[in-house]
Amino acid sequence: MAIVHVLLVALIAATTSHAPRGVHGAAAKTTWPGDLAALAKAIRLRTDPNATVPASTDFGNITSALPAAVLLPSSPADVATLLRAAHSDPKWPYTISFRGRGHSTMGQALAPGGVVVDMPSLGASSSPAAPRINVSADGRYVDAGGEQMWIDVLRAALARGVAPRSWTDYLHLTVGGTLSNAGISGQTFRHGPQISNVLELDVITGYGETVTCSKSLSPDLFNAVLGGLGQFGMIVRARIALEPAPARAKWARLVYTDFATFSADQEKLIAPRPDGSIGLFSYLEGSAFVIHGLAAALKNSGTFFSDADVASIVARAAAKNATNVYVIEATLNYDNATAASVDQALKSVLAELRFEEGLSFVRDASYLEFLDRVYGEEMTLDKLGLWRVPHPWLNLLVPRSRIADFDRGVFGGILQGTDIAGPMVIYPLNKSKWDDSMSAVTPAEDVFYAVSMLFSSVANDLKRLQAQNQKILRFCDLAGIGYKEYLAHYTVRGDWVRHFGGKWDRFVQMKDKYDPKKLLSPGQDIFN
Ligand code: FAD
Repeated sequence: MAIVHVLLVALIAATTSHAPRGVHGAAAKTTWPGDLAALAKAIRLRTDPNATVPASTDFGNITSALPAAVLLPSSPADVATLLRAAHSDPKWPYTISFRGRGHSTMGQALAPGGVVVDMPSLGASSSPAAPRINVSADGRYVDAGGEQMWIDVLRAALARGVAPRSWTDYLHLTVGGTLSNAGISGQTFRHGPQISNVLELDVITGYGETVTCSKSLSPDLFNAVLGGLGQFGMIVRARIALEPAPARAKWARLVYTDFATFSADQEKLIAPRPDGSIGLFSYLEGSAFVIHGLAAALKNSGTFFSDADVASIVARAAAKNATNVYVIEATLNYDNATAASVDQALKSVLAELRFEEGLSFVRDASYLEFLDRVYGEEMTLDKLGLWRVPHPWLNLLVPRSRIADFDRGVFGGILQGTDIAGPMVIYPLNKSKWDDSMSAVTPAEDVFYAVSMLFSSVANDLKRLQAQNQKILRFCDLAGIGYKEYLAHYTVRGDWVRHFGGKWDRFVQMKDKYDPKKLLSPGQDIFN
């Protein structure tokens, strides 16, 4: 076992794509100052490969970097101790990152040569007397530890008949991890991203101070941290708004062979009415499929479509001479009170849409089953050895006025005839549901599309897929499509400045205020 680790460490050190930052040699690894020595003695601050190697990679499987040490905190106080020591020691050599589940794709949660805070350790150390998920007595909010996974927040809330309103497609991500980005899914058009549904945060800043913040209490920290890419401190606790939990969902997929009709229907379904209400659907997303490999891609899009469904979609695409197929995915939540009327309600919305005749497919699922749908796919892919492959994902937010150009150039152009492994998700969002004072950035239009090309490298073709991503970005740049990357990873400062646009100066001011030594979340490559 030890030999395997030595080899692994050597391999990772040899392949690391991040340059370690100012590590002061072996002595610095083992001789910790003051309170940190106690954490090391308690085997909570570790430098052995059993701790550092697992913290050196992420879901992307593209980049890796070994940290010098890993902190396995038993409480937020341990993290505060680390950050205080880092801030006050003029010779402190380590950067510090907070690793949720390491579900980033380009090393955003890594700390090359630094200290990784292993967030799940906080949850593992919680006790029934001090649970890290607390649903309020009146069911209006839940207090969740930053290390908690959304699936656990959901289960705790459902036990009380309530649930958060805004989700990600996959729930085995941490509260702190998604709130550091934005947290988007099919509910975002209605409720905004997850960051728009946070009422309060506890944050340990780069000084090691714990600050409670909200829209009225230290609002600059609150706004900076939400979508702040882990730059300003560690989210210890988030207070998240809840709604009464639906019991079940009618889950529909509607097939289109023409982009203009597909996107017009999607936009109709998210359009705010004069009274402020928005359509009927609880969730709205969509997918794009190129004609090459259509049957396989439809079969791989979860367990939703039967073989007969796939055959009828493929036949219609052929009859229409289509180059792409698009599928709207939408749900209508219901409970006991609305169970009798939900089918009629769904029928009346579908009657207003222009999907291919006969190609609407409806399932019924419990609310939990629907929200946790991607986990089943993870299990299947993992069994096939296809989950831990490289993931050169490309996530873009594309302004509505240019989405047809994007479709023509990318789905109808660059991706035609290519082998595609992984879903391509596309759905519109309302900018009015985002809070522009937060750090997350979006395009400058009232409606923009989330376009996620979630490619997996299953055929030793990582380089080809990365080149393809570059081609897509180049196309967008040359066409002047004012997109923003979501879950971006830039290595050049100028790219970050462009990414943040008018928010950059504020972002830098907040960094200077809350992490002046620029120690936090170095894997984002913004200040390090
Ligand atoms: P990590 O990858 O561990 O960390 C991400 C960043 O946040 C790092 O910089 C880290 O230092 C920082 N961070 C982590 N915890 C904290 C904390 N408590 N305080 C401060 N900073 C912290 N995103 C969506 O928006 N919508 C989706 O539908 C969606 N689907 C996904 C599906 C899959 C299968 C995967 C793998 C990812 C998906 N994501 C989605 C992306 C996801 O939001 C990011 O990967 C995010 O980083 C969460 O992962 P994590 O909790 O493991 O965080």
